[in-house]
Amino acid sequence: MSNAKQASLLVRGYEVVIGFETHAQLSTQSKIFSRAPIAFGAEPNTQACAVDLALPGTLPVMNRGAVEKAIRLGLALGSHIAEQSVFARKNYFYPDLPKGYQISQFEIPVVQGGEVSFFLGDEKKTVRLVRAHLEEDAGKSLHEDFIGQSGIDLNRAGTPLLEIVTEPDMRSSAEAVAYAKELHKIVTWIGICDGNMQEGSFRCDANVSVRKPGEPLGTRREIKNLNSFKFMQQAIDYEVRWQIEQIEDGFEIQQATVLFDPDTGETRAMRTKEDAADYRYFPDPDLPPLVIARSWVDEVKAQMPELPRQMAERLVTAYGLPEYDATTVTQSPAMAAYFEAAAKASGQAKMASNWIMGEVSAALNARGISIEQTHYGPEKLAGLLLRIADGTISNKAAKEVFAEQFGHSLHAVGSTFTGSYAVQIADVASVDAVIESKGLKQMNDSGALEAIIDEVMTANAPMVEQFRAGKDKAFNALVGLVMKASKGKANPQQVNDVLKQKLG
Ligand code: ADP
Ligand code: MG
Repeated sequence: MSNAKQASLLVRGYEVVIGFETHAQLSTQSKIFSRAPIAFGAEPNTQACAVDLALPGTLPVMNRGAVEKAIRLGLALGSHIAEQSVFARKNYFYPDLPKGYQISQFEIPVVQGGEVSFFLGDEKKTVRLVRAHLEEDAGKSLHEDFIGQSGIDLNRAGTPLLEIVTEPDMRSSAEAVAYAKELHKIVTWIGICDGNMQEGSFRCDANVSVRKPGEPLGTRREIKNLNSFKFMQQAIDYEVRWQIEQIEDGFEIQQATVLFDPDTGETRAMRTKEDAADYRYFPDPDLPPLVIARSWVDEVKAQMPELPRQMAERLVTAYGLPEYDATTVTQSPAMAAYFEAAAKASGQAKMASNWIMGEVSAALNARGISIEQTHYGPEKLAGLLLRIADGTISNKAAKEVFAEQFGHSLHAVGSTFTGSYAVQIADVASVDAVIESKGLKQMNDSGALEAIIDEVMTANAPMVEQFRAGKDKAFNALVGLVMKASKGKANPQQVNDVLKQKLG
């Protein structure tokens, strides 16, 4: 990094250092060591079986699907997938943890190393991973303030998690958020996590410290359970300011676990940080080492989709898309497939990305649905783009056609997207029908256009004089008048050309 860039990142002369621990809930059918379901939002304690309740005599049995999802992550991030990894007991007492320990992985995790790359503005960043390990989630305490009692809901106990740990490689809250967004994109893209942050399926702990440039790492505080990108940024920014103030006031930072309160925008100490030794980790005698055959890894590898970053790079090369567009349309597999289908069927890649990022996304957002849920398929968009490209309709008229067609497309409750869009032929017929019925056809008859221009020039002789006297603005005004006289149907480019010619 150049010195100038480095310096611009400093906050009041301090360098910010951030490392992330992210809990991604794996989208399996059942729990990591039992057959109880993991569906969200059920009545308390209806999804916890004897294993999850830690009844004596029960034994954990590893969920193969959870392991496969860990392998997928390792493959996506270029990590080493351990042929043998070990489950350990992390011992602590808490009411929502009936066994008195959490089954996790400690010394030998299943996924080791790897990295996540992403763009921060136009700068490519790479964050190294330390590891990703499998573990079970705990239950939840429910505090019923109005009756002054607390209860325990064990539905979440035993839900499979993958904890993804980075090196302390990030240097700003913006970089941390960009990392989290990229990781979120990857885990949803490869289908290992539903990514639902409100439901807690993807939650991040941000470890934050500050130091003067060149000094050893400062003491970190860990902000727990950030489940929105907005809070993530606010929490880190607050924490950085707080730590710098402490140091400037002559205090030392104590290692601690803190919580972010979105209402006050502040972080608050929850407990002083435990060390690994406090948890008395030891290998779980109930579970044999997890052995992953090379052949299984190869099988999973053969089923891996093209990843978002690779796909974005391909879209830049194959379609000449700008980096920004390529990154934006590869938000999700569905959007990426939608883009490619529309681009192929219309031969108008840049227009396709413009429309998907603009009109299509706005219409989806307005209805609160995702691209998977619309029947306004890429073949319709492609038809529309073809009619803009061949001059049949103006961009403005195209928006009207779009609104009409999008509004009449059924929108599904579930997903209409099945992994690809089969139809790659532009649906020009339905687009033409709307153009016809709404009379939106652009005027391409140059004789008629010339007549209108002549009329406008005669009726606005003073404006024509002004233009000829050197007042350039008068030209735009004349274009506007011609467009109006044509009821918006003239081709603006053609109006420009003919008018210029007539004005000499
Ligand atoms: P623990 O497991 O006890 O929380 P780790 O050493 O595994 O501790 O680190 C947890 C996270 O904290 C990692 O993401 C790591 O990159 C990050 N981290 C470690 N030291 C620092 C530091 N000084 N400043 C910021 N982040 C740090
Ligand atoms: Mg940790």
